[in-house]
Amino acid sequence: MDLLVVGSMAFDDLETPFGKETNVVGGAATYIGYAASYCTDDIGIVSVVGGDFPQEVMDDLNSRGVDTEGVQIKVNEKSFFWSGRYHLDMNSRDTLDTQLNVLATFDPRVPQSYRNAKYLLLGNLTPTVQQQVIEQMTTRPKLVAMDTMNFWMNAMPTELAHTISMVDMLLVNDEEARQLSGEYSLVKAARKIQAMGPKYLVIKKGEHGALLFCQDQLFFAPALPLEEVFDPTGAGDTFAGGMLGYLAKADDLSFDTMKRAIIYGSALASFCVEKFGTARLKALMPSQIEQRLQEFSSLVSY
Ligand code: AMP
Repeated sequence: MDLLVVGSMAFDDLETPFGKETNVVGGAATYIGYAASYCTDDIGIVSVVGGDFPQEVMDDLNSRGVDTEGVQIKVNEKSFFWSGRYHLDMNSRDTLDTQLNVLATFDPRVPQSYRNAKYLLLGNLTPTVQQQVIEQMTTRPKLVAMDTMNFWMNAMPTELAHTISMVDMLLVNDEEARQLSGEYSLVKAARKIQAMGPKYLVIKKGEHGALLFCQDQLFFAPALPLEEVFDPTGAGDTFAGGMLGYLAKADDLSFDTMKRAIIYGSALASFCVEKFGTARLKALMPSQIEQRLQEFSSLVSY
């Protein structure tokens, strides 16, 4: 298997300055799965949903090469639910409601056929659940990447630090990098976080792009200035899914490939925000992705 993904599969209620949508299918693993499927058709998801999660979404993911054998279905329970409201700048949001439901007792089980996956992406989840997944792998993946959020920094700092020490790559936003390191300078923050374990660090800055720290090398990926941003939900997961999908397909961890991977993730994220939920992300043509990659290139070359 090229890529194993663990993360939430959810229903979201979303409110942006452009409208409101309820019961939108989301969750980190859903966005990651769709994004990575543009690179490889050998992906597996470990997650848990309730009996309310649409079978059509599973079928759709399966048809794109995203296996869902590792998704536990608790028929008499409800799927994870999250609700958020975006501020006018669309870069910041308030969480209005989080109902863990099936996630409250999530005991991840990695199917045998996933345990040799070459690349592993741990979506934002309880750090102990992320650890359990790493521990179930029979061979160490070539790259273990993890996403997390400030909530875990406050709620479980010791467990989070332990999980971070087990991974090769950490993806966080700038505010989280500052909180985790206690440093304002992102360069100093990066050094401190890398000393915690991860060799690679990606610091996401929303509409201001992302920084990649790779041992002592640094790369900046811009975000494409867009005319229409409807819903930023899932942009971070789409970015991570695109990046890891690209790396898994290339099966190479050189700095040059990392740079291309981060631009690929940025390109997919730029589509994700154009419609609510996964609507835009799941309807892409390869030629549209190619065109957007060209736009990234002309944006920064001079
Ligand atoms: P992003 O906008 O990339 O940060 O990801 C948004 C997705 O993360 C939404 O679809 C939510 O369902 C999911 N999500 C939000 N909070 C959590 C949480 N505490 N644990 C797991 N997934 C979450």
